[in-house]
Amino acid sequence: MSQYQFDLFVIGAGSGGVRAARMSAGLGARVAIAEDRYLGGTCVNVGCVPKKLFVYASHYSEDFENAKSFGWNIANTDFDWSTLIKNKDTEIKRLNGVYKKILDNSGAETIRGRAKIVNEHTVEVNGEHITAERILIATGGWPSVPDIPGKEHIISSNEAFFLDSLPEKIIIVGGGYIAVEFAGIFHGLGVETTLLYRGSLFLRGFDQDVREALADEMKKKGINIKFESNIAEIEKKDNQLIATLENGEQLEAGQIMYATGRKPMTENLGLERVSIELDKDNAIKVNDEYQTNVPSIFAIGDVTNRVNLTPVALAEGMVLAKRFFANEDKDVDYSNIPTCVFSQPNIGTVGLTEKEAREKYDEIEIYKSSFKPMKLSLSDSDEKTFMKIIVEKKSDLVIGVHMLGPDAGEIIQGIGIAIKAGATKKVFDSTIGIHPTAAEEFVTMRDPV
Ligand code: FAD
Ligand code: NDP
Repeated sequence: MSQYQFDLFVIGAGSGGVRAARMSAGLGARVAIAEDRYLGGTCVNVGCVPKKLFVYASHYSEDFENAKSFGWNIANTDFDWSTLIKNKDTEIKRLNGVYKKILDNSGAETIRGRAKIVNEHTVEVNGEHITAERILIATGGWPSVPDIPGKEHIISSNEAFFLDSLPEKIIIVGGGYIAVEFAGIFHGLGVETTLLYRGSLFLRGFDQDVREALADEMKKKGINIKFESNIAEIEKKDNQLIATLENGEQLEAGQIMYATGRKPMTENLGLERVSIELDKDNAIKVNDEYQTNVPSIFAIGDVTNRVNLTPVALAEGMVLAKRFFANEDKDVDYSNIPTCVFSQPNIGTVGLTEKEAREKYDEIEIYKSSFKPMKLSLSDSDEKTFMKIIVEKKSDLVIGVHMLGPDAGEIIQGIGIAIKAGATKKVFDSTIGIHPTAAEEFVTMRDPV
């Protein structure tokens, strides 16, 4: 009999923690998991899920407009924010219940409360000391906001999901996933939206063509995008916020949302008691086996600040459980991770950007296509779908695929499988298209640019 109460104690019931806990329990381990806020973590409660519901909600304004071109007579449309929030909350509550059930059915013990590490094998929750052979930290991340005067007036994505009412105007600061996704959401819901980004073009790290194409589309829709802009100070006057930019310009809005990145949740966790090493951004340092410098303590997901996406946290949780309790030592393959920015239109991407490909390979070929999606062909909309394939010339391997357009995430998921399987451009070319779709363009682009 083990000297510990549990084989594994997981801190944080988010994407990674729940997956590791239930897989481990399913493999026969004695598992406990502590959660102090919400079952399902960021993704379910204040991330992927409510965000995607908001994206759907906000796209209706355009859909109603485009429906007219198909002969629909759209009577007065009216949007009620409180209905959206109420229905969203009901759905999230249902998902919280699903997570509880999944954990219960797996045999893992769920403990509600904040967990703190006491020593290499002991965790404290609600004043109780609990011992475990291994401790897994899966505490995720939290919005990070720069220290500017008036910071107390701003909201982050956490609060955006629970606003009592929609403002007439909003300013969103940042140029990452969250900033562009929420700019599309608020704009679609009828809020006059300004997006401020400190650099010359948002979505640093994505393919340049796709970034430029998205900026064009967002501007066409009426989002006020200001690059090379940042807020120096915020003041509140009569329920309005006045943002003074670094260049002295002043903007007024009902809400100012900061989406300037997220920091790993490592505070108040007792890490100093066991001297866990952190990197410069306060992320927990782990080796290839997710082990910290303390051999019995492991970490996965956003708290390690590597690839901060739900499917990655899930994969890490799964691999770790199998490593611990099924004697399998497979690694997560971090190459060619497909991803989608749920901007409007979506960006879907997998593999290398053109810049990365040029740095890595001597000769590459680029295929590009830009067209009006068929669904919009009867309407006045001039939204363009953009697609790009990057091929390494010598091997003919497709090394990067990028798309801006409706459902790009759905389309790129399939392309991701092809790339993972090592598809060459010849394989793409010999694949019969599905007609009429936008996706068929990926198998009909013949001439490199
Ligand atoms: P989390 O899901 O954050 O879970 C950590 C859990 O630990 C939390 O529930 C927290 O309450 C709990 N916790 C923390 N400290 C303690 C403690 N001391 N004791 C007990 N419990 C504790 N990713 C995608 O792939 N697709 C998307 O579309 C997407 N959209 C997003 C939209 C937004 C607005 C945000 C913020 C994120 C989004 N993400 C998306 C990222 C995704 O949510 C994260 O990568 C993912 O949730 C990370 O999982 P995790 O297990 O590492 O941490
Ligand atoms: P990101 O790290 O993606 O982007 C942060 C943005 O804020 C960058 O544009 C950055 O600029 C800017 N920024 C950082 N600090 C400052 C500052 N002091 N002043 C002004 N601007 C600043 O973070 P997000 O918050 O958008 O999202 C966090 C993570 O969550 C994402 O990286 C992603 O991993 C995950 N996520 C995934 C989604 C999906 O899969 N669809 C959706 C939402 C989130 P610069 O580029 O110049 O550094």
